[in-house]
Formats: sequence, C-alpha cells, structure tokens
Amino acid sequence: MNIILLGAPGSGKGTQSQNLSALYNLNHLSTGDLLRAEITANTPLGQQAKTIMDSGNLVSDDIVIAMIANRLNQQGTLFDGFPRTLNQAQALDTLLATHNNSQIDYVIELDVDQEEIIQRMLARGRADDNEHTIRNRLNVYNQQTKPLIDYYQQQNKHHKIDGSGAIEDITARIQTIIEPTS
Ligand code: AMP
Repeated sequence: MNIILLGAPGSGKGTQSQNLSALYNLNHLSTGDLLRAEITANTPLGQQAKTIMDSGNLVSDDIVIAMIANRLNQQGTLFDGFPRTLNQAQALDTLLATHNNSQIDYVIELDVDQEEIIQRMLARGRADDNEHTIRNRLNVYNQQTKPLIDYYQQQNKHHKIDGSGAIEDITARIQTIIEPTS
C-alpha cells in the first residue's frame, strides 16, 4: 500500500506520517527530512539545497525525484512532502509502475486553516519557519502543489480530511479512510 500525505507546510504531515507508517508498517519517505540530512552532513547537495529551502522555494524536481527513486523498496511507502509538483507526481506514478509494479492507493489531504498554520509554524521554530518564509511557502504550495488535488481527484484517489484538533483524532480520521469498515 502506498499513501501520499498532501497538505500545506505546517499542516501536520510529519506527525501524522510517523503514526501512519507505524500503524501500517510503511516505509516513511520525507523529502524535507532527507534534504535536511544532506544539509547536516554538509554535502554539496545540502549546500545547494539550503539556500533554496531557507527562501521557502522548491528544490528542483530532478533532485527530489532521484532521492525518492533511490529509496523505493518492495515495502509500501508513505510519502510525506512528495510529490509537490505535477512533474513529480507523474514521475512517481512511472517509478512505482516500473520499479515496484505498484501504484498510489490513497492521497490524504490534511486541511488546516492558513492562519492556524502560520501560528503552528512560528511555534515550531525551524530555520525556514520565519513569517516571511512561511508566507512564501504557503504561496508556493497554493501555486505548485495544489494542482495535485485535481490530478488525484481524476484518479479517484483524493480524500480530504479536517487536519485541525488533537493528533490522535486526526490519525483516527485518516484510519477511517484506509480502513473504511473498522
Ligand atoms: P518540508 O519539511 O516537507 O516542509 O520541506 C522543507 C523544504 O524542503 C521545502 O520548503 C522545500 O524547499 C524542500 N522540499 C521538500 N520536499 C520537496 C519536494 N518534494 N520538492 C521540492 N522541494 C522540496
């Protein structure tokens, strides 16, 4: 089973990904975490990515697609923060079909009010969490990532859930989609 968690930055994808990957024994792939690990290790890729990430813009499709391609295995995967562009979404479909003979099963969109997101992110205090960068990241999300909703709606894979409230309540809402009979 392959799941994509979709949602604006700060919508809680990382937290929910941890719960869901444990619940369903999925390989958790977060391109944001992978990029931050490159920065910490001070690799050439990390140095290149840092400036882009600090500004709130997206790292190039080629870089993140290659990161994902190298980490797909036969286990089901929970994609967190990937894909973020239509180009990435199409590349992911091809990768899954050709390397894993599989496909995306569920796309879960975490819906959170934008003002709540800004407050959450300011409280989180990451390097790219200042208000200017946050607003740019929200714009980038609206322009480049939101079109994915249409893309997956057309494939009947998109499910939108309320992403506000207690962490375990949000996880439970997602479970009702993945286990509709429980
Ligand atoms: P995140 O931790 O998912 O919020 O990602 C932090 C930053 O990493 C983003 O603002 C982007 O600069 C970069 N990033 C993460 N995932 C991607 C992706 N799929 N495509 C392009 N850039 C990404």
